[in-house]
Amino acid sequence: MSIFKRDLILQLQQWLAEAKQIVIVSHRSPDGDSIGSSLGLSHYLELKGFPSDVCHPDPAPEFLNWLDGAKDIINFETHREQVIQKLANADLIFCLDFNHVSRVGDDMMPFLSDAKAKKVMIDHHQNPSDFAEITFSDPNCCSTSQLIVELIDAFGDSKTINEKIGTPLYCGIMTDTGSFRFVSTTAQTHRIIAHLIESGVKNNLIHEHVYDTNTLNRLRLQGFALAEKLQIWEDLDTAVISLTQEEVKRFPHQKGDTEGFVNIALSINGMKRAAFFMEKDGIIKISFRSKGVENAVNEIASKYFHGGGHINAAGGKSDQTIEEAIQLFKTVLQNEK
Ligand code: 5GP
Ligand code: MN
Repeated sequence: MSIFKRDLILQLQQWLAEAKQIVIVSHRSPDGDSIGSSLGLSHYLELKGFPSDVCHPDPAPEFLNWLDGAKDIINFETHREQVIQKLANADLIFCLDFNHVSRVGDDMMPFLSDAKAKKVMIDHHQNPSDFAEITFSDPNCCSTSQLIVELIDAFGDSKTINEKIGTPLYCGIMTDTGSFRFVSTTAQTHRIIAHLIESGVKNNLIHEHVYDTNTLNRLRLQGFALAEKLQIWEDLDTAVISLTQEEVKRFPHQKGDTEGFVNIALSINGMKRAAFFMEKDGIIKISFRSKGVENAVNEIASKYFHGGGHINAAGGKSDQTIEEAIQLFKTVLQNEK
C-alpha cells in the first residue's frame, strides 16, 4: 500500500503551487541516498516550474560530486549565513532521508526547527519523529530515492522522469541497497530501476562513477585497515576495524574515503555483524552493519552510542577513547548472547 495518500498529495500540490521559496534539506554526513534524493527531487520540481534550493549541513563527498547539481548544493559548513537565510525565508521545506531534526547536526538544527515554513518529511528510517506537517515515512522501503520515484508517480508524473532526474535517484537506490543486494531490495525496487533505465539513465556509468574512482591513497588506507587493524571476535561472529586519528593522518585521504570499510569487514565468511570505529576531532564515529533481523544493530547504536539507523545499518558516536568504545561494543554483544 502506498504511503502517498491522495489527500496528502493534493495538499502538497497546493503548497507547491503557493510556495515562493522551496528548500530541500537532508542529513549530516551525506551519502548517495541523501544527495541522490535531494537532487532527484530538485530536478523534478524544476521541470514542473517549482525551483528549489538544496541546503545540506555539510559538503558532498568527492565520489558524488559528479552528479548534475551536486556543486550547486549550498552547505551550512561553508555557507552558514546563506543557509540560515534560505531556511528563514522558505515557505516549504522538504526534509529528506532523516527521521529527526537532530540529524542535520547541532549547529544547523535550531534554524530548521525554528523555520516558519511548512515541512514535508520523506524518509525510510524507523521511528519517525513528528516534526513535519506532512510525514511520508516507509521504513520498509530501501531508500528515500525510491520514495521520490514513488512520489513522482503519485503526482501522475512518472513519464516526466528523464536522465537528469533519474540519474541521482538511481544512484541513491544503488548505494542504499549495496548495489541491489540488501534484503530491502524488492521486486518494486527492480521495477523502478527498470523504469529509470528506460527513461534514459546510463546505469553502467553510475556504477563506474561511484565504485571505480578509487584513489591510490584510499586503497592504501584500506589496505592498512584490513592488514593491520581488523580484528575478528570468532565467538561473537563479529568483525571490527578501528582507525585512530594518527593512523588516518598517515594516509592523506578525502572525506568519504573510509565509506565501505565496514561492509568489507561484514563480507568475511561467517560474520553476522561488523563495526568500524574512527577517531575524528576527538570523538569516535562508529558504523555498524549486520545480517538478518535477529542481529539488529540500530538498538545497540541508539542505546549505547548516541545514534540509531536501520536494523542492519546503523551508526553512532562515543566520547570515550577508541579502546573503551570498542570494549563497550564487545561487552554489549557478550551480554546479549
Ligand atoms: P553510516 O555507517 O553509513 O554512517 O550510517 C549508516 C546508517 O546509520 C545511516 O543511514 C543512518 O541511518 C544511521 N546513522 C549513522 N550515524 C548516525 C547517528 O549519529 N545518529 C543516528 N540516529 N543515526 C545514524
Ligand atoms: Mn537513505
